[in-house]
Amino acid sequence: MGFDVVILGAGASGLACAAACAARGRAVAVLDHGQKAARKVLASGGGRCNVTNMAVSAADYRCANPHFVKSALARFTPHDLLGRLHRAGVATAEEDGGKVFCPGGAAGVARFLVENARQAGARLLLGTAIGDVRRQGEGFVVDTGAGPVTGRSLVLALGGRSWPGLGATERGYDLAKRLGLAVTTLCPGLAPLLAGPDTAALCRELAGVSLLVGLSGPAQLRGDLLFTHKGLSGPVVLDASLFWREGQALSLDFLPGLDIAAIEERLAAAGRHDVKNALTGLLPKRLAGALCARLGITGPAAGLSAASRRALAEGLTAFPFAPARAAGYDKAEVTLGGVDTRGISSKTMEAAAVPGLFVIGELLDVTGRLGGFNLHWAFASAAAAGECA
Ligand SMILES: Cc1cc2nc3c(=O)[nH]c(=O)nc-3n(C[C@H](O)[C@H](O)[C@H](O)COP(=O)(O)OP(=O)(O)OC[C@H]3O[C@@H](n4cnc5c(N)ncnc54)[C@H](O)[C@@H]3O)c2cc1C
Repeated sequence: MGFDVVILGAGASGLACAAACAARGRAVAVLDHGQKAARKVLASGGGRCNVTNMAVSAADYRCANPHFVKSALARFTPHDLLGRLHRAGVATAEEDGGKVFCPGGAAGVARFLVENARQAGARLLLGTAIGDVRRQGEGFVVDTGAGPVTGRSLVLALGGRSWPGLGATERGYDLAKRLGLAVTTLCPGLAPLLAGPDTAALCRELAGVSLLVGLSGPAQLRGDLLFTHKGLSGPVVLDASLFWREGQALSLDFLPGLDIAAIEERLAAAGRHDVKNALTGLLPKRLAGALCARLGITGPAAGLSAASRRALAEGLTAFPFAPARAAGYDKAEVTLGGVDTRGISSKTMEAAAVPGLFVIGELLDVTGRLGGFNLHWAFASAAAAGECA
C-alpha cells in the first residue's frame, strides 16, 4: 500500500496531523497497534478531557530548548482548537487557571478526532503491528502484518512511555534512534512523589487530606496538595515532579497566605485554646494535629515559649519533605524528555538530518505542566507538521 504520508500512532497528535495532511489532498494512512484510536484522550482529565488551556505560553513547557515550542504555539492557539470543536458540536467549559474541559465527556473529543481524520480522507489502519521501518529512496517503508506500507513522508506520533495500559510503548523512541535522531533522558513526569522513610508514616496517617500549599525547592509553585498512603499527589505535586530530581527536598508551606510573624501573632492571641485547636480553621484538623505531634508541641497556646511559637510557625511554612522517588510510568501522566528538539525544525517538526521524517506530540522532548498543555502541544505540533508533511 502506498501513501503520501504515513503516520505512526492514532493518538491526539497523529489523528490531528492526519486530518490536516488529508485536507491538503495528501493520501494519508494512520497506523496504530490498538483496536481503538485516541485511547489517552478517552482517559484524559478524569474522563472530562482537559483539552487545552486559554493561557498557554512557552513558559508552560519543559524542553531542553525553551524556544522550540514558540512557533507552533503562535500558529495554533486555543481559539483555533475551540473553533473546530464547537463547529463539530463538542461543548467546552473554561475553568480556573484557563483550563478548558469538555462537559460532554472525553469521548466527544476522541470521536471528533477520528471523524475529522476520516472525513478528510485519511485511512485509519487500527490493530496494525508495526515492524521494521526504513528509508527507501526519498520515502519510507513500514513493515506491517498486512504487508509493507510506503510513504513519501513519515510522521512519528507514537507518544511517550506513560500508561502502558493505554497502548503506550517505547517504540517511538527506538524508531527515532534507528532513523538517526537523538533522544534525551526519559523519566516519569506529572507523577506523584513517594515519601522517604522520614515522612512515610505521616503520609499514611494523613492519607486523603488535601489543602492549598506553597511548594518550593525544585520550583516555586502554589496549588492543591493531596496526602496519599504512599506520599504526595495533587496538581501542585504533579507539576513539581517535572522539575524534581532525585535527592532534592521539597519545602511545603501549609499556610501560603500567612507569613511567620502573622502565624506567631495568631498563636499568641489564641490564649488558653489548645495549640492544635488554635490551628484548626487555618489547617485541616488532622494535619494540625499531626504536625503539632511531630514537632512535640502540645497544650494551651498561651503556654508556648516564643521559641516554640517560632518553631511551629516555621514547621508550618517550611515543612521539609524529601521524596524517595517519583511514581513510575504506570502512574505518571506523561514522559519527560524525548526526541531531541535540536534536530527538529520548530516550524514544521521535520527532522533536519532526515528529510521527510516528522516527529510530533509527546514523543518530542516537550512536556507541558498540568492543565491541558500536553494535549494542546499534541494539537499544535500536529498542525505544524500537517502544513507540510
Ligand atoms: C490518564 C491520563 C490523563 C491525561 N489527561 C490529560 C488532560 O486532561 N489534558 C492534557 O493536556 N493531557 C493529558 N494527558 C496527557 C496527554 O493525554 C498526552 O500528552 C497526549 O495524549 C499525547 O498525545 P500523542 O498523540 O503524542 O500520544 P498518544 O496519545 O500517547 O498516542 C500515541 C499512539 O501511538 C500508539 N502506539 C504506541 N506504541 C505503538 C506501537 N509499538 N505500535 C503501534 N502503535 C503504537 C498508541 O496506541 C497511541 O494510540 C493525560 C495522560 C494520561 C495518561
